[in-house]
Amino acid sequence: MKYQPVQNFINGAFVNASSQKTADIISPIDGTLLSTVPMSASTDLDVAVAAAKKAFTAWSKTPIKERVQVFFRYKYLLEKHLKELAELCSEENGKTYSESVAEIEKSIELTEFACSLPQLVTGEVLEVSRGVECRTEHVALGVVASIVPFNFPSMVPNWTLPNAIALGNCMILKPSEKVPLSSGRLAELLKEAGLPDGVFNVVHGDVEIVNAICDHPGIEAVSFVGSTKVAKLVYQRATSNYKRCLALGGAKNHLMVLPDAIPGMTAQNVAASMSGCAGQRCMAASAMIGVGNIDGIIDKICEEARKIIPGENLGAVINKASQERIEQYITEAEQQGATILVDGRNTKVNGKEKGSYVGPTVIDHVTPQMSVAKEEIFGPVISIMRTNTVDEALAIENANPYGNAASVFTQNGAMARYIIERASAGMIGVNVGVPVPREPFSFGGWNESKFGVGDITGKSSIEFWTKLKKSTTKWNAEAGVNWMS
Ligand code: NAD
Repeated sequence: MKYQPVQNFINGAFVNASSQKTADIISPIDGTLLSTVPMSASTDLDVAVAAAKKAFTAWSKTPIKERVQVFFRYKYLLEKHLKELAELCSEENGKTYSESVAEIEKSIELTEFACSLPQLVTGEVLEVSRGVECRTEHVALGVVASIVPFNFPSMVPNWTLPNAIALGNCMILKPSEKVPLSSGRLAELLKEAGLPDGVFNVVHGDVEIVNAICDHPGIEAVSFVGSTKVAKLVYQRATSNYKRCLALGGAKNHLMVLPDAIPGMTAQNVAASMSGCAGQRCMAASAMIGVGNIDGIIDKICEEARKIIPGENLGAVINKASQERIEQYITEAEQQGATILVDGRNTKVNGKEKGSYVGPTVIDHVTPQMSVAKEEIFGPVISIMRTNTVDEALAIENANPYGNAASVFTQNGAMARYIIERASAGMIGVNVGVPVPREPFSFGGWNESKFGVGDITGKSSIEFWTKLKKSTTKWNAEAGVNWMS
């Protein structure tokens, strides 16, 4: 085992969970046993919530200009340890080193946004009448929780923790049991940056801890990122306990390719979007709809896909079960009459035979009824459907239950606008394969890709992590009325 067993991080120190139950952490790259992660009990959560609650009194009263100083130092520490953090991220998640570097760079960018919060939460003042004014202030909620998935071990925790904490909350992070190592390093760096003990805590585990978070009377708000199935469970359970909840779910993102799209650029973008992070991104292109004759562009997409080499510029998928699930989708599509133009099944990487790899896969002549057209595959696979008109393409996109992202590739601005207005997704790309908005804009999908109000990052997150206090004051100084009269 390469690393010491993973521990919870509570009140500024690593501690053992009370339960003896653990799960193995296996590197998807080569099947190596990296460590074990504890399956904590709800009593471990109780200890973490008590520590966070205690820390909240002083932290929430610390001026925001002082609170963000921790994040200026944290940003510097992320930069200083970028290489080490990226290596750890690749080891536990399987993505390539350069993808992990991009993930840490994005974590730095998210932290930079948190550092700007003092300029954004200044509140508002309205003069109501002479000597009378109304004023709003953003007030921290208390102890909040963030439950995160396996596909971004560093970036998704950093979607929530810098903003929530800079705004005065204390946090319990529940990492994915598949990739729990990075969160321990983030905890260490936050402590080194000067974050007081108890403000940030990590409790590892699975369903039991997630349920305990949703039920805990000491937790005010729950953010969740993961599959739609679990997002629904968490949203229902947390809100039925009268908590604020924002639960981001899965995705099936459609790219619409029009005949006037620039072939080379479109092909590169489609291939990169479907295969980046081995297709394990909620923003990955998973379905493509070719409008009219785009055969030349499909040829180029296949050329680009063949340049993507597993173990070199394509990482592993999270585990063997995931590899088998993805391969099963491809086989089923083939059996139902689709054409496999580039086939990523049975991929082996020399020297890493125990790794979980799926090569880039391009499937053509997919019909909207096939599972590869409808379901989230979460692998480096693109399913191509054909239509004669943009409206038919939009009808397919609109019918899918998710709504994270949609993109159009065209040189026609009016057509692009037509699609922006009609696609049923929260984040739209025009000649962009992965249309992630940059801060201060916020990240969040529609439909079954998100449950709850607002978005998880950027300015929108301020509303989620704070409550508004409204005060109305009257001083009547001009009337000569004061406390002595
Ligand atoms: P997951 O839903 O299996 O797990 C997410 C978290 O929920 C983990 O911490 C896990 O321990 C916990 N969990 C798992 N099963 C549970 C259950 N039955 N009850 C309570 N908690 C449970 O997701 P994953 O496989 O880790 O991540 C991949 C999914 O996340 C994909 O669907 C992807 O699209 C989605 N995702 C969405 C976004 C977004 O912004 N919408 C971002 C990243 C990932």
